[in-house]
Amino acid sequence: MTNIAAPHIDALRTLLGESGLLVEKHDLEAYETGARFDRGVAAFVMRPKSTEEVSAAVAYCVTHRIDFIPQSGNTGLVSGSTPDETGTQAILSLDRLTTLGGIDVVNRSVNAGAGVRLSALNARAETDGLFFPIDLGADPMLGGMIATNTGGSRFLRYGDVRANTLGLKVVLADEAGTVLDFTSGLRKNNTGVDWKHLFIGTTGVFGIVTECVLNLEPLPGQQATALLVPASDQAVPGLLVQMEQACGSALSAFEGMSGNSIRAALAHVPALRNPFEGGIVPDFVILMELTRTSQACERDQPLDALLESVLAEIWDSTNKPLANALMGPPAEMWALRHALSEGVRHSGRLFAFDLSFRRGDTLAFLAQMKAQLADTYPDLTVCDFGHLGDGGVHFNLVAQPDDPDLADPGFEAALRDLVFSVAVDDFGGSFSAEHGIGHKNQAWYDHYTPQAVRTLAASLKRAISPGKRGAMHF
Ligand SMILES: Cc1cc2nc3c(=O)[nH]c(=O)nc-3n(C[C@H](O)[C@H](O)[C@H](O)COP(=O)(O)OP(=O)(O)OC[C@H]3O[C@@H](n4cnc5c(N)ncnc54)[C@H](O)[C@@H]3O)c2cc1C
Repeated sequence: MTNIAAPHIDALRTLLGESGLLVEKHDLEAYETGARFDRGVAAFVMRPKSTEEVSAAVAYCVTHRIDFIPQSGNTGLVSGSTPDETGTQAILSLDRLTTLGGIDVVNRSVNAGAGVRLSALNARAETDGLFFPIDLGADPMLGGMIATNTGGSRFLRYGDVRANTLGLKVVLADEAGTVLDFTSGLRKNNTGVDWKHLFIGTTGVFGIVTECVLNLEPLPGQQATALLVPASDQAVPGLLVQMEQACGSALSAFEGMSGNSIRAALAHVPALRNPFEGGIVPDFVILMELTRTSQACERDQPLDALLESVLAEIWDSTNKPLANALMGPPAEMWALRHALSEGVRHSGRLFAFDLSFRRGDTLAFLAQMKAQLADTYPDLTVCDFGHLGDGGVHFNLVAQPDDPDLADPGFEAALRDLVFSVAVDDFGGSFSAEHGIGHKNQAWYDHYTPQAVRTLAASLKRAISPGKRGAMHF
């Protein structure tokens, strides 16, 4: 049972109703446990079912100095959506904000609650031949996607959540629970500050997203995929540029997958087929995808024919950038790509880094970092994969349970210091490319963010949303 005083529980139950407040241990567990290794203790869970109820609950918590953490699908990877161990933090779950409005086919947009799952939105949009073009191996809720500015595998073509958000409704963490409505759904509106951007990618620090208006894209009518094995690391940036020049806007994904991450996925999901001959997995593989919204018609070259001819041309080019190339069914190739994250998670104790680089630096970083790790921590396995098309790298390090380094309480921090110093200091990269800031990377936010920027963020927070939000700060 919660350690927050009973009168608060009674007052919040009056505001949210019986099913809007969870206090029993067995009801809290799912909300206390994150997608990876996070596990905290919640004082209680609030589950408002409208923006008005979010406003009332937030106003109550801010007025009574109750610390709360917004939570949507709880698939975040930086410990941002779960409470700490103290049992004093409440969870504000948006999982009952599931209103899904009709699709505006002419505006190509939809109004939706923060608790709508990505899969539910896409199931609805599909009936109008549309989809929300953020693609990832999890099924988050829209509020969490906005709060983390999710990137995903088709960033190259469609951009991130920010690029696809037309409007928001937010509740500020002040004593009034002020509601700000930016849900006009306009695609252009230069009438001053575009405030919605303050709430995208800032993990709830400036306010809680309760509703959104999202851009939808036409569903691809044609799709063609191939797995490319580059002849060398040095060949990869050139391949990306060649593909963009040859395929133009049809190029919708250019994903990198290390051999170690592919092996982990194949081991974890026996139903996956190893597409490479003789069961040998290459050291590095690129999944590339072409999509076109129109169906194949006589005047166009079908996409698989386009892909085949581009690959043939590159194969025959004098610099020989390809060691192998396989075309195959998109569903099968994407199933492999989407299994990497869970496969790696199940292959040992995982230390995950979400990095990004200028596109030309990605492979150079991987080479330098792997060499340094082989010297310093030779027992770690590097299982990297990521979004070569936008410079994103999920740099995963896996230790086996008997690795003596795991007994060292300073090991993880030392590892993070090492990887971030190479990624950020040496290569000018980002230590959080698409997962936002949470407890897991707060210390490095503090370290790498200039004091003037931190002061600006803190004064903005004080001005508009002074209520606490976990221990996190910007
Ligand atoms: C297998 C797997 C693959 C993934 N692949 C990718 C990927 O390719 N690209 C990528 O970008 N991410 C990826 N992720 C990370 C994760 O799915 C995204 O960060 C996701 O969009 C978070 O959404 P969520 O609903 O789960 O949010 P949560 O995890 O619930 O919350 C995330 C953060 O946002 C805050 N928050 C939640 N809801 C709100 C709200 N309504 N208002 C204000 N703040 C809020 C929380 O406090 C927390 O700090 C992956 C995760 C998994 C498990």
